[in-house]
Amino acid sequence: MKKQVALLGATGPVGQRVITMLENHPHFTLHEIAASDARVGQNFAESITWRNEIPMPTSVAKMKFRPLLEIESPYVISALPTEVATEIEPLLAARGHYVFSNAASFRMDPLVPLMIPEINSAHLSLLEKQQTKGKIVTNPNCSTVFLAAALAPLQELGTIEHVSAVTMQALSGAGYPGVSAYDLMGNLIPHIGGEEAKIQSETKKILGAAGIAANFGVTVHVHRVPVVHGHTVAAHVRFKEKVSIESVRSRFQAWADRSPNLFALHEEMDRPQPAKDLTPHEMRIHLGRFKQGDDPHTIGFISLGHNLVRGAAGAAIANMESTLRHLGAI
Ligand code: NAP
Repeated sequence: MKKQVALLGATGPVGQRVITMLENHPHFTLHEIAASDARVGQNFAESITWRNEIPMPTSVAKMKFRPLLEIESPYVISALPTEVATEIEPLLAARGHYVFSNAASFRMDPLVPLMIPEINSAHLSLLEKQQTKGKIVTNPNCSTVFLAAALAPLQELGTIEHVSAVTMQALSGAGYPGVSAYDLMGNLIPHIGGEEAKIQSETKKILGAAGIAANFGVTVHVHRVPVVHGHTVAAHVRFKEKVSIESVRSRFQAWADRSPNLFALHEEMDRPQPAKDLTPHEMRIHLGRFKQGDDPHTIGFISLGHNLVRGAAGAAIANMESTLRHLGAI
């Protein structure tokens, strides 16, 4: 029997990607959908504009939107705006639902796991400290995941002292309608409200022990760029020890061999690229341009991933799977 899942925020870019990623999932089936109050009772296909390269699954087309607080499924994926998630997710957890959230609301709550399952599933131990019958599990900001995941193998090479990162973030990361094409086409905007602080704090939470942040500095500049899907992060990492670029390559390769759904490595000088390396359900984080810095303690690399998939929908589904395995439910 597949586990029944309710999807909140089903109409946005993240919600629509959850719908296609749950279609034919081995463990889960989409059972209920919800969005803003005005849609309650409406039929999905007639109510929304479908913006997803994969066709709308027929199973969802005839579903009717339910009120947020009347969903019945035990497992909930939330793709709600932060301000709505802040109010709704704790109410659902109190009623016994397991909520897998894309929103920023509870990512930094000390009792809530902020997860990349291949990296810090040990943080699921925090669930025992949540007092509610149901629980909340979160996935990271859609740029944080591509930086934090790439830093995990590097933590095995020495003591990271400082990380300096520059992001180039796609349009779909801003939701729909997001940033105006008039403002962005042929342009670059060096600001995304609140994003730099999220990347700094979330990266340290993910890479620390459960409840204890990692002890290195993170400096970030973020940019919105005229790319439809795919966030790129250019990063430099300074270690306490000397670190060779050969050891970086072989550590990333070892992780890629062990977790082929987590990393794909590139040696070409002009890769990875959003237009060439990201499929519509791409979970892999693409790493390339490995380089020694200007001193033997510093290395650099590029990390690219699909913001709607590994950065949102696929991340919440992976968290749901990891949590249910942790609980022995699948
Ligand atoms: P979005 O385009 O703004 O979609 C938001 C969804 O929430 C829509 O389905 C909308 O339904 C619904 N909604 C809005 N106000 C509501 C209300 N008052 N009550 C109930 N439902 C309401 O956002 P998105 O880009 O899909 O992102 C969803 C969440 O994931 C956000 O918290 C975002 O920060 C986070 N996130 C996004 C990305 C990304 O790459 N886009 C990555 C990581 C995390 P209606 O159509 O009915 O208004």
